[in-house]
Amino acid sequence: MLLTYYITKIYTSIEIVVESMLAIATTMIILAYFVSNGIKNLGEAKRAAELEKLKTESIITHLADGLVMLGKDCKVMLVNPMAEKLLGVSEKNVLGIDPRKKAEKQNLNSFHKALHWCLSEKEMENGKTIKEEIKLDYPIKRILDVRTSPVRDTTGKLLGFVKTLHNVTREKELDDIKSDFISIASHQLKTPLAIMNWDLELLLKNRGKKQKLLNDITASNKEMIQIVSDLLDVSRIEQGRAKLKIRPASMKMVVENAVKKLLQFADKKNIKLTTDLPSKDMTQMIDPEAIELVLHNLLDNALKYTQGHGMVKVTLKYTPKERPKYIEVTVEDNGIGIPKLDQKKLFTKFYRGKNIKEMNVKGTGLGLFIVKNIVDLHQGSITIQSEERKGSKFNVKIPLKTH
Ligand code: ADP
Repeated sequence: MLLTYYITKIYTSIEIVVESMLAIATTMIILAYFVSNGIKNLGEAKRAAELEKLKTESIITHLADGLVMLGKDCKVMLVNPMAEKLLGVSEKNVLGIDPRKKAEKQNLNSFHKALHWCLSEKEMENGKTIKEEIKLDYPIKRILDVRTSPVRDTTGKLLGFVKTLHNVTREKELDDIKSDFISIASHQLKTPLAIMNWDLELLLKNRGKKQKLLNDITASNKEMIQIVSDLLDVSRIEQGRAKLKIRPASMKMVVENAVKKLLQFADKKNIKLTTDLPSKDMTQMIDPEAIELVLHNLLDNALKYTQGHGMVKVTLKYTPKERPKYIEVTVEDNGIGIPKLDQKKLFTKFYRGKNIKEMNVKGTGLGLFIVKNIVDLHQGSITIQSEERKGSKFNVKIPLKTH
């Protein structure tokens, strides 16, 4: 019992056990065992202590969080494998180093940044754990929740500090996504909601042309449905929940469906929407709904960003001609084009070109982000050729899988 008591007392928590302390602890356990029980079996006591040491070492090694032990002088005594990974260091290179001193080498920057302070015995008197959030750039961009606690011996004397490093990058990213989502959603929905409200008030007061007001309300409502649907797609993509339902489908039919749904819009804008499709139909492994969304977004953009009397053309072909390996779909327009500088940012979330401002075309800046993600999920690629005031050509290339 007493042996267990001493073990528990010395190894107060898994986190605060370090190699050097284990050596002292081992001796103390053995001594305590002998003093209290007068037991002669030295081998048995030693084995019990060694077993306990092994257990603790194994826990520290396999801990899902980083753990760094610092002495009273703030010099590193232990770095577990997860801390090595998070800070981009190897334990053997940092043992005995005081992280408060400035980094000499570039790759020690994160190590110094994450472990940048220690307190004196007096300052640590209340024994509280101190929590901070640290942003690192090396070895990759990460946000760590670092907690520092004092480590004391059984008499309460300060032995050093333990710092636990918890990777909170993903949680923080999701927080940012959520706030982006809320701010964009409310911002984007505000205008169509205000228009609907205004039109409804006029209808109630029996003012204005009923048919026109109802048309406006329907248009605003459609716009809101589009915004919500885009935002939900983006949220699914960003949370890694976007999964494809790959099955045999006709790419030709997918293109035809997407075109059919936009013919009326093209007509209304006086734009000639044409197709160039292979005569032979064949099935391939794709997610037809997702690919239709890709085509819908590309075609919708081509029509939106082309002024009246323009031309939009969709081409589908299998390349190379002799032994097809890819499905290639091209959406081409002779619209306002995309400035060279904008082309790099085109597939990022919420990005809208500067040249479309005066066109007063509604949009969320999410369409191409969704397109790119769906194409990526199909292991495909998307490229663009565009010149301002001349037009744009989007080319989607997906590996051809027939089963
Ligand atoms: P949006 O809802 O604004 O259309 P997208 O992500 O679909 O969002 O497109 C991002 C931006 O790319 C658009 O705002 C526009 O500036 C530009 N863009 C996309 N397609 C075209 C095109 N065919 N012609 C000209 N500009 C385009």
